[in-house]
Amino acid sequence: MTATTAPRLTNLLGMTREEMEAFFLSIGEKKFRAAQMLKWIHIEGCDDFAAMTNLSKALRTRLTEVAEIRGPSVVYEGSSSDGTRKWVLEVEDGSYVETVLIPADNGKRRTLCVSSQVGCSLDCSFCSTGKQGFQRNLTAAEIIGQVWVAQRSVGPRRDTANRPVTNVVMMGMGEPLMNYDNVVPAMKLMLDDDGYGLSKRRVTLSTSGVVPMLDKLGDELDVSLAVSLHAANDELRNELVPLNRKYNIRTLIDACHRYLAKCHDTRQVTIEYTVIKDVNDQQVHAEQLAAVLEELPCKINLIPFNPFPHSGYETPSRNQVMRFQQWLYDLGYTAMIRSTRGDDIDAACGQLVGRVKDRTKRHARYIQSIQIDAD
Ligand code: SF4
Repeated sequence: MTATTAPRLTNLLGMTREEMEAFFLSIGEKKFRAAQMLKWIHIEGCDDFAAMTNLSKALRTRLTEVAEIRGPSVVYEGSSSDGTRKWVLEVEDGSYVETVLIPADNGKRRTLCVSSQVGCSLDCSFCSTGKQGFQRNLTAAEIIGQVWVAQRSVGPRRDTANRPVTNVVMMGMGEPLMNYDNVVPAMKLMLDDDGYGLSKRRVTLSTSGVVPMLDKLGDELDVSLAVSLHAANDELRNELVPLNRKYNIRTLIDACHRYLAKCHDTRQVTIEYTVIKDVNDQQVHAEQLAAVLEELPCKINLIPFNPFPHSGYETPSRNQVMRFQQWLYDLGYTAMIRSTRGDDIDAACGQLVGRVKDRTKRHARYIQSIQIDAD
């Protein structure tokens, strides 16, 4: 006698409105069930069909036979003394991703930093995630699952004036534009009124400059854009962000202009600039930055480099970062210094390292270099 395997259940968690409508049509139901289901999942944080009391008993039974609502499992949840909260989540293949909720403005703003990949293929030289190599793209369910878990933990979104998550930044592990097909549906759910109901200005995609996909994104969604620039001359950026060899600074800035032109309202690009001691923190670098950003509506975030073992880089002094800020100010730019949050739970920028089980050759080389260093 051969063993029969149970049919695989369809996970509804990562489905956009259109996909949910198609699903209900496929099981002989009306399209409007999609809105009901989205509300149950994303507003109520519900994963139990039996509790969905506005669905008929027969439909609830049918759903348990063909579908499920399955988010990542929480393996760690921690709160920092500054109010930052972090979740370590286990996804399908046993890999871990991390998501962090950062409060600001006396708790009025709660920004969730969301990961898009397990590891990252882009190998930026100052980034601890880049040193782990790349394992795989997260699915749409695993991406939106991070928002779902955070919201369930903080409380359901019934009261729009007091949302558990007010902003989302796609700035965790991975390069979101290298996982376009899963990131876009997840962002659609963040924006959907029956999903997380966030405005386009409150959902930010951060990219290191995958130019063709940025052009594609502009055709589909006009969420806020952040660009990880980190250097304003190609020679240095080639070293810090190797993707620059493919899409150089001029090409990237031109793509930012095209993106802004497609937005339906007035926007700025957020320029992320990790300030690294004696690498990109001198006056000449501020002048180069001001020159490349000329005419681009933008604001600049200065992020003091967050050290990790054997990175080969150092954190600049607070005074040096403030000098850099002043140089930019004198050149007509406003730059914010991003404070490091959640240090006591490893939630600060550049520490969203997760644990990548299937490590690549790059990771092996990195480990080898650590061992050589240590000898
Ligand atoms: S900075 Fe971003 S794009 Fe670069 S390696 Fe790290 S996660 Fe990837």
